Amino acid sequence: MSDTSNDTVVAIESTLIDVDRALDRLREGTYRQCDSCGEEIGESLLIADPLRTNCAAHPQLHE
Ligand SMILES: [Zn+2]
Repeated sequence: MSDTSNDTVVAIESTLIDVDRALDRLREGTYRQCDSCGEEIGESLLIADPLRTNCAAHPQLHE
């Protein structure tokens, strides 16, 4: 396996982890809450990035 396809696998796995986290958050009812401050994440931010876990004031930790 070349380095390029290995990077692709890592990127896909990372996305899967993010999707799993988003689904967990939906089930727990914390999908719209910022991981850092607990404030509600804006609707437009979630439309732009449905896997987002932080509000506009806090950077995404996993990116
Ligand atoms: Zn926040």
